[in-house]
Amino acid sequence: MKYDFLVVGAGFFGAAFSFAASEKGKKCLVIDRRDHIAGNAYTKEESGINVHVYGAHIFHTSDKRVWDFVNRFSEFNNYINSPIAVYKDELYNLPFNMNTFSKLWNIRTPKEAHDIIEKQISSLDIKEPKNLEEQALSLVGVDVYEKLIKGYTKKQWGRDCKDLPAFIIKRLPLRFTYDNNYFSDRYQGIPIGGYTRMAEKMLSPSEVRLNEDFLKIRGNDLCLSTGERIEYDKLIYTGQIDEYFDYSFGPLNYRSVRFETECLPEENYQGNAVVNYTDEEVPYTRIIEHKHFERAESPVTIISREYSSEWKKGDEPYYPVNDDENNALYEKYLSLSKKEENTYFAGRLGRYRYYNMDQVIAEALALADGLS
Ligand code: UDP
Repeated sequence: MKYDFLVVGAGFFGAAFSFAASEKGKKCLVIDRRDHIAGNAYTKEESGINVHVYGAHIFHTSDKRVWDFVNRFSEFNNYINSPIAVYKDELYNLPFNMNTFSKLWNIRTPKEAHDIIEKQISSLDIKEPKNLEEQALSLVGVDVYEKLIKGYTKKQWGRDCKDLPAFIIKRLPLRFTYDNNYFSDRYQGIPIGGYTRMAEKMLSPSEVRLNEDFLKIRGNDLCLSTGERIEYDKLIYTGQIDEYFDYSFGPLNYRSVRFETECLPEENYQGNAVVNYTDEEVPYTRIIEHKHFERAESPVTIISREYSSEWKKGDEPYYPVNDDENNALYEKYLSLSKKEENTYFAGRLGRYRYYNMDQVIAEALALADGLS
């Protein structure tokens, strides 16, 4: 059993890379220690609804190449993410836009909103934002920060906004138009039929083996659980970089998420796919109502409450915590990884970066571009 590539992880990096590599005549074996493909984008059909088992995944990109690529494997619907934020008994539109400001301050025009925000910002005197709190305050002022950012961020990251990197809040657009589209990308949608089916098609030219843990078989003469011995020229590793090196410098910090998923005997629970709970008192960060991603018709509905927690060994990692301390630790693992021959670390966990799906796919295609 000889392969050009052993790809560890059947998420979107592994799936996109192996497909692009196969188009160049390379033979790939993709393994995953879970019992399914598609990584954290995995969807599972229940009662006619595609459930985003590891949390909401909304595809958006401005990269035409990536958009054309994913459209080879699935048709996409025209879903536009427009989350609602609940703060105590108040309801707001996200991202921060004229609908939000109009509700907050009972105003109508962009000038009125600009004036209020400018006034709030000028009294703060922040020159160069050093952390998420300063970044948020200097972008949107105190009211938006206090009601829509502070509590949510604290719950999501388990850290004070002063102890988090500024870049995280820049993921959210700030607009002075009545536009509730959460993303500013050119292309957006949900693959009709779910992410699992899309990943399945991407993986179709490759051999895929599930329930195979690379970290266990590497010490076992590279034998799969079937007893087959495998050989390969190059390794693509999309798991946690610190785990690959046995946490030799200590573990990196990640955030994990626990989902409380329920099927309710009603058609429409919250009227929107994503509702964020931005005050600190509500223990979960958001509730996802899965059917609204695809306008699924079903007499029942499935909702998931998301609870964020600090990752510990044995948990599923979701988000890297890219503060200075962790980034410095990652650099040490990166140096080690450069000494690993014919091995490439990739994806959110391999690169320890807060990547979106499209960025992961763009990197996979770029890596495959370099193949002869
Ligand atoms: N955020 C916030 N309030 C919200 C939604 C997001 O303050 O209602 C902040 C929070 O710090 C979060 C970050 O924006 O971690 C990025 O949000 P995004 O929706 O991109 O997070 P993801 O969907 O990746 O969990």
